[in-house]
Amino acid sequence: MSVPFVVILDFDGTITTSDLVVALTTRVHDANRDIVNKVNRRELEPRTGLNILFSHLPSRDRQLYEEYLRHLARFRSGYHRFSAVLKDSHIPFYIVSNGLDFMLDAVLGPTPEDGPWRICNKARFDQPSITIEWQYPCQDPCPGGCGLCKYQVVTELRERHAAPVVYVGDDITDVNGAKHADRIYARGLLAQMLGQDGVGYTQFDTFDDILSDLFTVTEVINND
Ligand SMILES: [Mg+2]
Ligand SMILES: [Zn+2]
Repeated sequence: MSVPFVVILDFDGTITTSDLVVALTTRVHDANRDIVNKVNRRELEPRTGLNILFSHLPSRDRQLYEEYLRHLARFRSGYHRFSAVLKDSHIPFYIVSNGLDFMLDAVLGPTPEDGPWRICNKARFDQPSITIEWQYPCQDPCPGGCGLCKYQVVTELRERHAAPVVYVGDDITDVNGAKHADRIYARGLLAQMLGQDGVGYTQFDTFDDILSDLFTVTEVINND
């Protein structure tokens, strides 16, 4: 069945109002704040930064982390409505995160059979501290260092569904993916960086902002 477009949503700071990777890893290990700042200033690649952040989280405390995330997470306004409209419209819809699977599971519960589907890294708890099994490693022409390469994800989903990709994100780890999407909704650092690089995007605050724009835009991107 042909679809008008595919939607990719970042998780931390996009679906949720705060970045849960930053919140959890800095709460457990205060000095992780320096690592986050270095990644945001592009002095450290996201993949390297994430490896360091999670290396300070003892595996034995998994349950505490999950409780903390469930307690902390807030959904951005309009998310559940947005999700329901996409399902009713049979629009393929993916949550794509450079975070770890146990974090998304803690906040969202198990993945529903009819989606949205999740693409994220896998956490391992069989060492003294959390280690990361990376999904979607970088390939040309991505400049590299992503961790989970959102550029690869955008490319693959566009081919799989033979449809334009709508990208929604907020952060530095969204830049490579967003730049290769057909339509971008951005906020936060992502919006700032796209602006600096002269890439067009639509600013959003709530998911209702996106919904009111998205279906009118479909015609535009399909007629390009
Ligand atoms: Mg984010
Ligand atoms: Zn990459």
